[in-house]
This record gives sequence, C-alpha cells and structure tokens, in this order.
Amino acid sequence: MSGDHSDATIARRVRRLETLLEEKGLLSGGALDESIDAFLLGASPANGAHVVARAWTDPAYRARLLADGTAAVRELGYLREAAPRLRVVENTESVHNVIVCTLCSCYPLSLLGPSPSWYKSEAYRSRVVREPRAVLAEFGLHLPAGTEITVWDSSAETRYLVLPRRPEGTGQLTEQALAALVTRYALIGTAAV
Ligand code: FE
Repeated sequence: MSGDHSDATIARRVRRLETLLEEKGLLSGGALDESIDAFLLGASPANGAHVVARAWTDPAYRARLLADGTAAVRELGYLREAAPRLRVVENTESVHNVIVCTLCSCYPLSLLGPSPSWYKSEAYRSRVVREPRAVLAEFGLHLPAGTEITVWDSSAETRYLVLPRRPEGTGQLTEQALAALVTRYALIGTAAV
C-alpha cells in the first residue's frame, strides 16, 4: 500500500467520523475548527495579551481591533479563516465588560488558552448575568458604583475578548513589557490589569 493511499484512507475515515459526531450533535463544525486552530496556533493567553499590548501602544491598531476584532487579530497571525467571529469590547472609566457563555462554554481558545474551570461552571454562567457586580467582587474586582457593567454572552458564531484599561504609569513600557501585565482573567473581564 502506498503512503498516499493510506493517507487518503485515513483522511476519509476522519471525515466520516467528524460527520457522524456532528450528526449525533456531539461536535459542532465550529468547535472542531476551533480546536484545530488552538492546536495549530499554540493557544495561550499570551496571544490575547499580545493583541491588547499592541492596541495600547498603537491607536490605529486599537481602532481596527474595536471595529473588526477578527480582522485585526488575524493581522497578528491569530485565528484561522474558519474561526468564529471575534468582537473586542473595551473597558473605559465608565464601562467594564465581562464575558460568559450562558449556554455552554464558548470561549476564544486560541487567544486565551484553555478556559478556567469556573468559566464552565453553572454558578458563574447563571450568576454573572444576574449579579455581575457581586460575582466580580468575589474575584476581588471591586468596581466603583458608577461603573456600568456589560455582560457579553458568547455563542457558536461570536466570541468576545475584553480590552482592559491600560494601567497608569506605564507610558514608558515596551509592548512586550505591557503584554506581560495582561492576565487571562483580565481578558475575560474578571480582573483588571
Ligand atoms: Fe458555549
């Protein structure tokens, strides 16, 4: 048997298995694409931190990122064509954003690495929508009473990434040094930087 022949056989078997899993509702095409994405691109919160640090240091990039997250993130080499749409939401003095998937556990894997276990928990998914301020306080994030909290519910089509506020006194830091300040929790919105 030639190598080509056996590769084709394996590819056909994999495809048949994918189809079967999708038909049984055990796997969505999007979820599979996302896993492949994560594998190929080295899924890590360092990727999301890189995007944030670039936005903090390059106003034109920040504008593109907020206008079309998917395209701007691809500029830096993240997200394949098949990945769900990415929307980047910016924290300001008056608005704080936090991400959840109330249905399951949708999450921008390739930019944030594997999701924390609490992200998938029933408690987080139901409570952060009803009482975001209390949930954030439990994470140690105490927001001023005047800060509006916006909760973004992820889906199979759209993923979210929080653009945290750049900390005071970091004007002289390089993009790389800034990226090192950005945590996975800050990219989900359950922490500040
Ligand atoms: Fe989900």
